[in-house]
Amino acid sequence: MSRRSRVSATRLVTASTQVDRGAEVEPRRVSHYWCASDHRTSAAFAVDVEPPAEWPCRTCSGPSALERGTARVAIRPRLFPRTPYEFLMMRRTVEDGERLLAEALVAMREGRYPR
Ligand SMILES: [Zn+2]
Repeated sequence: MSRRSRVSATRLVTASTQVDRGAEVEPRRVSHYWCASDHRTSAAFAVDVEPPAEWPCRTCSGPSALERGTARVAIRPRLFPRTPYEFLMMRRTVEDGERLLAEALVAMREGRYPR
């Protein structure tokens, strides 16, 4: 790599991170957000824009609201699939289980179970 190409690559990177020195900064207003765990997050927005109703919490990444105590609770994706018991309880009630158990016990005592 020639010296010239290295220099231009460095310039490209620094140009994107540089602030326009001497340029007037847009007036900003700081908005405060609170998540469901009461973490406070501050974010600055231009004064002529409406601050978003929701902003991610800097501490826990959950949704934060402008009004304290009104943030919705973050819905975390399930890490594990449902257990066999959960699948069973989707199809049956506890009363169903009691009835089936009673039938099975009667059948077992009468010698009909297992067939
Ligand atoms: Zn939080």
